[in-house]
Amino acid sequence: VAFEFIADHRVLDFLATLAERGTTDYEHLRAPADLAAWAAQSGVVDAPIDPSEAEFARAIALREALYRVLDAAIEGRAPRPADREFVNAAAGGRLPTRELTPGGDVRRSGDVQAVLAAVAVDALDLLGGPDRALLRHCADERCTRLFVDRSRGGRRRWCDMKGCGDRAKAAAYRRRRRAGEHAQTA
Ligand SMILES: [Zn+2]
Repeated sequence: VAFEFIADHRVLDFLATLAERGTTDYEHLRAPADLAAWAAQSGVVDAPIDPSEAEFARAIALREALYRVLDAAIEGRAPRPADREFVNAAAGGRLPTRELTPGGDVRRSGDVQAVLAAVAVDALDLLGGPDRALLRHCADERCTRLFVDRSRGGRRRWCDMKGCGDRAKAAAYRRRRRAGEHAQTA
């Protein structure tokens, strides 16, 4: 599976591994190996992780708690106590270590717990910083992805102009064309 990394925050890309929440609920993380692939592609750690079933279940539960916490922040609600505790516990874990290699590159390493800690800390950095006020839901009715709106004027509506934005423009074009055909036959 090739995962998408289009958001400015790792946590937002992690949340998007469950697509179209509330409609198709398309799950990209179906097995521990999918989580390992996400971790490798995200660059949170360089060496592959090998999640157990229990760690995988914890990752999915954390993802959903993070979604509810960020969703609550957008809506101006306080997080649920259970979600808050879960996120705080994950964020308090040991983060991936960074190490300068002899060649001058940086190597990041850590286990599943460290990957989840990195994602949870990213969520708290988002909520504790200026991007909190820019957090939005994609306007596409099925997408439900969260994004940070850095556009001038703060009027961006879609998570990604190539995906949801193009779909919306194509739909608007079809509507206009239909309206035009209707006007000609009338
Ligand atoms: Zn979208």
